[in-house]
Parts: sequence; structure tokens; C-alpha cells
Amino acid sequence: MLRCNKSLWFVFAFVLICFFAVSCSSSKDKQPKYVFYLIGDGMGLAQVSATEAYLSELEGKVGGISLPFTQFPVIGVATTFSANRGITCSSAAGTALATGIKTKNNMLGMDPDTLALKSIAYKFKEAGYKVGITTSVGVNHATPAAFYGHQDNRSKYYEIGLELPGTGFDFFAGASMMEPNGKMKDQKSLYEIIAKSGYGIAYGAGQYDSVKNVSERILLVEKPEYNAYDALAYAIDRKGNELTLPVIVEKAIDFLGKDTKNDKGFFLMIEGGKIDWSSHSNDGGTTIQEVMDFSATIDKVIEFYDAHPNETLIVITADHETGGMSLASKSGYILNAKSLKGQKISKELLSARFHDLSVEKGGKVQWDEIRTILANELGFWNGVELTEDQENELKKCYNEAFVKGYEKEQKTLYSTTGAMANVAMKMLNDIAKIGWTTNSHSGIPVPVYAKGAGSSEFAGKMDNTDIPKKIIKATGISF
Ligand SMILES: [Zn+2]
Repeated sequence: MLRCNKSLWFVFAFVLICFFAVSCSSSKDKQPKYVFYLIGDGMGLAQVSATEAYLSELEGKVGGISLPFTQFPVIGVATTFSANRGITCSSAAGTALATGIKTKNNMLGMDPDTLALKSIAYKFKEAGYKVGITTSVGVNHATPAAFYGHQDNRSKYYEIGLELPGTGFDFFAGASMMEPNGKMKDQKSLYEIIAKSGYGIAYGAGQYDSVKNVSERILLVEKPEYNAYDALAYAIDRKGNELTLPVIVEKAIDFLGKDTKNDKGFFLMIEGGKIDWSSHSNDGGTTIQEVMDFSATIDKVIEFYDAHPNETLIVITADHETGGMSLASKSGYILNAKSLKGQKISKELLSARFHDLSVEKGGKVQWDEIRTILANELGFWNGVELTEDQENELKKCYNEAFVKGYEKEQKTLYSTTGAMANVAMKMLNDIAKIGWTTNSHSGIPVPVYAKGAGSSEFAGKMDNTDIPKKIIKATGISF
């Protein structure tokens, strides 16, 4: 009897040891070495859902197609209001997502009393991680800048750029360093200052390989000839030679992961910046292509995750929704997203096409020439049938803009477009049943998707300020 009890005790002790061994190793596994923080600027649930509806309809289905990241095991929802507004701007939201503190609209990396805040990027750097900050717009634009800049106004691009060298972060990439003030005679170019501080500057992906071998830190930007409006080209407008966000992320992972002696790992922030821009323009087709491009970028991160599943955390969210986008119209219970299939260019490029035609023809543009552009670039009468009323509306706009010369432009945050492009694009979105309520942001909460070590932190409802705190908590490192 005693012998039996003794053996039972041994078995019990063995089970206990096994249990502690397993639970210790699994809690260790839950602390990520590689952290990817992806922010789709303006990417609300509507932008994601419109993309999935479009992809489903292209396959002849009503729903059913999912983007890979929406299949992540952990999903949450985050409120986005700023310290002083129910509807945030990108710099206040970026500050919340980078520092865990809310600030006023237009402020960056500072609390409402202008006290400078330390972002999690600095905290990771201090803890020995390599750090990368990447975007598809300017490197000193609001969202990426919130991870390293401290200014009372987000439009102080030059001053934000001057803060970059002091960060010591390992990898920066985007379309450019925006330097509107830098062109003044008494100010040096930001590129010159950043290069002098020890960063190798690569212009385009082609230069990356040669620069990475001779530089401890890198700034990768688009070649000047492709860098229109301080942003990478919209996915829908690409010709094929431009720098893209998926390529930027490939290079970032290559650079941050190259030092095998760095056993601390890395933190990489990735912003898909132009989902916001096309949503400000209420351009559904371009927005869907931008979400698909962001999803292709996330696929690069998922590839890395698959090779390091126990050591990687991926967190994806948005800073806010843009455009008050909806999958709805006044005409009832149907969606027609597939009618965006014939759209070949963004609203901005369509507007430029009309402008160039007008200049080329000395202001004497024929209706047939406009009709040809609408057929080739938006698919009107070429897959997308129009009613008589719709055709008359287009002709009326042509008469006003091109015959009478009364050009009614529309200015939104990132673009100015002509009446013909505006009327045609609104018509296409109406046909697709993509609704828009504003050219600004909306106050609706945004989705949060997470996968990997520590991802269980991100389930349920949270505020945007909780997200960086949860990332830090997931790493298990005390800063
Ligand atoms: Zn915006």
C-alpha cells in the first residue's frame, strides 16, 4: 500500500513538473521577438468589406472571399476619438497608436500640453531591438512621424525631418522626406542632413542592395522622377517601375533581420498611407486596389511569421475610417462592386487626363473624346451600362466644363479634381453601390486584427491608446 502511494506521488510530481515546464515554455513563447505593427490609414471595416465584396463578385459569388489578414484568429475593435474631437486626424491618432496617450488634432508626439511623449519605437530601441518605420507616403507624414517626431503641428515637416537622425532607428522608408520649407535658401536639404548623420540613402529598390552593404542605417525612398505629391503611386496607377509598399517591407525585413548577432529581434511599423487619400477623394475603385496592395504587404509579413511562428506578433489596425464609406445606396438590397472592374486609373489621374486633353486641343474638346476616355478608363458603355439620365448628366457636365469653360473644381485634403472626373467618379460609385458621406474622416471605431505570440491581448473592445500598451505588455519586457 505504501509502495503504491509512493509511486502515485512520483507520478503526481512528474505530471506537475511537466505541467510547469509546458506552461513556462508556452508563456515564454508568447513573448514575441519580432513585432509587426501595421496601420492602414483610413482603413475602416467598410474599406476592408468593400474589397472582399468586390473580390467575391469577380468570382460570381455573393460574399465568401476573405483577405488573408481578416482570417487572423484574434479580432478586436478600437475607438479612435482624439483628446479634443470626436473625429480624429491622423497625427492625433498616430500619437495615440505610437505612445498610448491621446492628444489634440494636428498635434504630433506631444500631449495636449505640448509635453513630448516617448513612442514605443524608442522603447523598443532602448531595449535593444532593431527598429524600422515604413510608409507609402512621406516619411515625415503624420502616421510614421508619430513614432519619432514631437511637434505642436503635424505640418512642420521640416522640423519633423530634423528629428529623424537623432532617433538612431535602423530603417526608414517611404516615398520621400517632405521638405516644403527645405527649399528655402538658408535651410539645408533634409536628405543632406540625414546622410551626414550616418544614414545610407537608397533612391528606389534598385539602390537598396549596394547601400545596405555599406550602411548601418538606411533611408529608402522613391526615385525623384516617380515621386509625385510625396507619395508612392496608387496601386491602380502604377506603370511597373515604381517603388511599392510590399517591396519596402521585403527590404525592411531583410535589413532588420540581417544581423544574426542581434538576438533581441526587431520592431517594424508599416503604414498603408493612401487608403486614406483615395477615401478622401471618395474613389471606391482606387481604395479597393489600395486595400489589396496593403493586403499584399501583409502577405510578406505572414511569410515571415510562417518561418518564425512562435516568436512573431502581427497587429493590424487603422488610425481612423475615412470618407464615411458604406456598402449601401438608396436603391435597396443590392451591391454591384464588380462594376468597378473597368476602372483603370484613380480619380486624380482621370482629372489630369481631361486637363491634358483640354490643353492639347486648345480648349476645343469634343464629347466623343470625353466619351472614349470614360469608356477606356472607367468602363462606361464598356461593361458598365448607363441609363439615359446618367448619360445626359455626363453630357451636361461636358457642356459646362469644356464648351462653356465653367470649371468647377473639387478640393479635398490631398487632391484637386475637375468637374468631369468628379461627376463621372461619383456616378461609378453610385452604380457600384459604394456610398460616401464625407471628404474627411469619420468617428466610427476601426477593426484590430492580431496573430502570433501575445496576440490574445487584442481581442474585444479597446481604445486606440490601449494598442501600444498591449504590444509592450505582450513583449514581456519592462521598459
Ligand atoms: Zn486622412
